Amino acid sequence: MSDTESSAPQADRGSIFARMAQFGRATLSIALDAALPPLCASCRTPLGNPGGLCPGCWSRISFIAPPYCERLGIPFAYDPGPGILSIEAIADPPAYGRARAAVRYDDVARDLVHRLKYGDRLDLATSMGRWMARAGRELLEDADALVPVPLHWRRLWGRRFNQAAVLAKAAASNSGLPVLTGALRRMRATPQQVGLSRSARAANVQGAFAVTQDGKAAIYGKRLILVDDVLTSGATVDACARTLLRAGARNVDVLVFARVVAAARVPI
Ligand SMILES: [Zn+2]
Repeated sequence: MSDTESSAPQADRGSIFARMAQFGRATLSIALDAALPPLCASCRTPLGNPGGLCPGCWSRISFIAPPYCERLGIPFAYDPGPGILSIEAIADPPAYGRARAAVRYDDVARDLVHRLKYGDRLDLATSMGRWMARAGRELLEDADALVPVPLHWRRLWGRRFNQAAVLAKAAASNSGLPVLTGALRRMRATPQQVGLSRSARAANVQGAFAVTQDGKAAIYGKRLILVDDVLTSGATVDACARTLLRAGARNVDVLVFARVVAAARVPI
């Protein structure tokens, strides 16, 4: 009956418009894909498949695998046996339990992070998250939820998305673990950590994070994995871990896409 058709609920019309918009975007994306071949995420060589690396970049990316410091995940030059810690982990133990990274931070890793962060190549997160899930398999098995390191709202405004949250969702997708995007908040816009000394980095992020009102119930008594794109000195994730533990989290591990590794360490 025409009566029922004309009184279609508002929600249905909304969903029709949403579907039309989606169709438009999909058509545009297909048109762009047809016009431009997919490029290597790092060096922009044309590729057969989207979201990947060319053979040259693939051979240069440096995945982190054992042997490494059980605590910090810093690669060792040789295998000292299970449970051996690095000098750093003993001299200056972090607030978090274990840290794991998918790759070493080098030219290829930097390109991937930059394209994800500033180039709107969100499709890269699928591969990056898969590599992170592999590097952090033990952490994911022991965790209740993932918590991305938050951006300050002003930076989020400029970039429109938080790369740590995008990576956390990609890394959690197979495990089905929840990603608590609103649990932590960055209270002040800390200057970029790049170029700061180790102690300046720690001072820079001191008191920069807080657990939100909703976050308190979500994290209490939980085993968490903090997620970020790059780990440099560890000052940021350490400050976040302290904040989460003070608010009652049971345990905090750290999973990042890339970590800065000075050189292969000789274990003690
Ligand atoms: Zn390449």
